[in-house]
Amino acid sequence: MKRRKFSVVDIVIVLVVLITAFSALIFINVMRTDGDKIEVKVKGETFYIGDLQTENKKEVKITDSNGKTTNILVIENSTAYVKWANCKDQKCVNHYRISKVDESIVCLPNEVEIRIVKNTGAEDAAW
Ligand SMILES: [Zn+2]
Repeated sequence: MKRRKFSVVDIVIVLVVLITAFSALIFINVMRTDGDKIEVKVKGETFYIGDLQTENKKEVKITDSNGKTTNILVIENSTAYVKWANCKDQKCVNHYRISKVDESIVCLPNEVEIRIVKNTGAEDAAW
């Protein structure tokens, strides 16, 4: 009795399937690290959570406890930046656009922190 050997075609098929699966995994991971949610904190408290991918051309007015606008955040083309701020240093306004997970724009005078956070499954269920 002869044992059936793997043919070259079999090996190629297995390789193609493995490579496809691998690329899909890598692709998903790359998409993930591209950043999903934008989180705005004022004085350490969550002020706003937005979706970086779907909220295109959205302006978010960040206000202090008196309701006065301190910063205006813009979400555009999967990036976020501060369009206007009432702070003296204007470092937040001059900051480059952020788009990747863990990138952040901080406005020290106003105690505003804008950060891109990972879109986790738990958060998805909540939304
Ligand atoms: Zn600022």
